[in-house]
Amino acid sequence: MHEQSSDSQSIPNVFTITYWGVTGTLTTPLRAMEVTDKLIGALHYLIERDRLADLRSGPDLEANLRRRIEEELPFHLRSSYGGNTTCVEVQTPDALLILDCGSGFRELGVALAVRWQAPNAERTAHVLVTHAHIDHIYATPYFLPYYDPENHFTIYGSPQTLHNLSVLFDPQSEMSRRYFPPTFEQMKALKEFRPILPGSAFPIGSTQIRTHPLMHPGGCLAYRLENAGRVFVFATDHEQVEMPDHGLAEFARGADLFYTEGQYTRGEYEGRDPIGNSPALPRQGWGHSTIEACVATAVAAGVRELHLGHRDPARSDEDIARLEVSLRQLLREELRRAGRAEDSCRARIVHEGLVVRC
Ligand SMILES: [Zn+2]
Ligand SMILES: [Zn+2]
Repeated sequence: MHEQSSDSQSIPNVFTITYWGVTGTLTTPLRAMEVTDKLIGALHYLIERDRLADLRSGPDLEANLRRRIEEELPFHLRSSYGGNTTCVEVQTPDALLILDCGSGFRELGVALAVRWQAPNAERTAHVLVTHAHIDHIYATPYFLPYYDPENHFTIYGSPQTLHNLSVLFDPQSEMSRRYFPPTFEQMKALKEFRPILPGSAFPIGSTQIRTHPLMHPGGCLAYRLENAGRVFVFATDHEQVEMPDHGLAEFARGADLFYTEGQYTRGEYEGRDPIGNSPALPRQGWGHSTIEACVATAVAAGVRELHLGHRDPARSDEDIARLEVSLRQLLREELRRAGRAEDSCRARIVHEGLVVRC
């Protein structure tokens, strides 16, 4: 895990956010040849700069290599943005929140099963589901803590989302018998289902939560978490049809951290440019946004930091690194247009394993 602290005003951080899955649409493991390409790229980078010749075999070699790799190699050569689909853990001062149950949720489950062996572990969490598209819920039956009756989980979602989950996991459902033999009946830790209407507000412990309907086929909910003057907004799977998106900008107003999705560039969205190894075709109406729109909305909302996720599975790590450079360029231009200081908002494309405090 790579932990970063948000530099900020004098208000202390209250949320610890861990990205367990940030890939869009489909789980995307690194392919074997991509691993080889990374090794070649990394060695090439270090040899070209004469950063290997001084290393000698011996007891310190591994530590020295690790330091050099972590400190000197570009991120896409030494690591990966990850291939798990959406799951984000948010530790608040008094509650554990989980946003979405994509394939990253399975790995969070493994970590929680270990963490909750501690004698005083609270063993309670609140699962906020944005919508029931398969990439946001398909790790549900593979989340180990759901099967331990000592644990306590509440699932929140729109009435439609909860209904869709029951279609998949209810023991009486024909779908569950066909596709997901472990049903809610076996998941003894699921104690409650809480329907949330779009636009409604509710507390979880000391955190106030508001919701906002997003533009996505079948609908999707954004969540705004506020606690002690700190704001984290999570708005994945949304097609911004205006630039900036005034409704979303209002919802994200003044957020310390605004997570949203910029799956495409404008050229890819309009069908002019291919995405990685995927051909050019118009993607309007697919329910996802352009990074240009995300930047415009983030600046209009006056957020301090923009995180983009839900990366298109056709993009390689190198593609994402390049996209991150253009994201930052777009942000600088948009801030300049708005007459704001260049350092008043930061942006990045997030990767799996990233931990931030806000
Ligand atoms: Zn999605
Ligand atoms: Zn979706």
